[in-house]
Amino acid sequence: MKIDLNGITKIYKSENMQTTAVADVNLSMAEGDKIIIIGESGAGKSTLLNIIGCIERDYEGKYCLDGTEVRTLKRKKKAQIMNEVFGFVFQEYALVEDDTVYENVKIPLLYGEVRKSDYRARVKEVLEKVQLEQYIDKKVSEMSGGQRQRVAIARALVNRPSIILADEPTGALDKKTAEEVMDILYEYADEKRILAIVTHDLQRVKREGAKVIKMEHGKIQG
Ligand code: ADP
Repeated sequence: MKIDLNGITKIYKSENMQTTAVADVNLSMAEGDKIIIIGESGAGKSTLLNIIGCIERDYEGKYCLDGTEVRTLKRKKKAQIMNEVFGFVFQEYALVEDDTVYENVKIPLLYGEVRKSDYRARVKEVLEKVQLEQYIDKKVSEMSGGQRQRVAIARALVNRPSIILADEPTGALDKKTAEEVMDILYEYADEKRILAIVTHDLQRVKREGAKVIKMEHGKIQG
């Protein structure tokens, strides 16, 4: 997978105000790239990540995914790509509290190609990666913050995405848990996938080989 952003600009317009959240960003990423986007609050980091993840679709400029301009994709194809190509990890885990770990992690499989009879094996396999396999039938509401984030990561990885997008993935975690979570993400990304992380806490997420990009007023610096 390859990401090419060319002249990406996002302006939020309200009745009497315009905010340029992302200003003429050019950025390319290929397999094995690990990119950390830093910058002050309001710099445009999340907006850029949402554009990359096709969550934000209203922008100017050209965004190509593996050579195909995202804008030209039909709705159904775009939805399929979003589900199969991207794994999203957010600070807020957005888990269904009353459901079990299994029920939560299998959600992306419902829209994919995996057969129903293989769901449980697939979920088990990804739970091993985040060391939660023994909790497969436990309710999310009975788990700790660090465990919840790992459930959310398992859900993000269950479809084996080739691009992982993480927005403040360590935001709500203590130092040790944050480290474990980052280990999981880097290990999964390895040399074969793209990992893009937005953070205000560079120290916690930086690892060897990661490239740091600084955003300021919507622009990439340097
Ligand atoms: P960061 O992630 O670096 O904190 P954001 O991408 O969230 O920055 O926001 C960039 C700018 O865009 C900010 O000035 C923010 O107020 C503005 N913004 C973000 N989302 C919206 C929105 N839905 N409507 C209007 N303005 C927005």
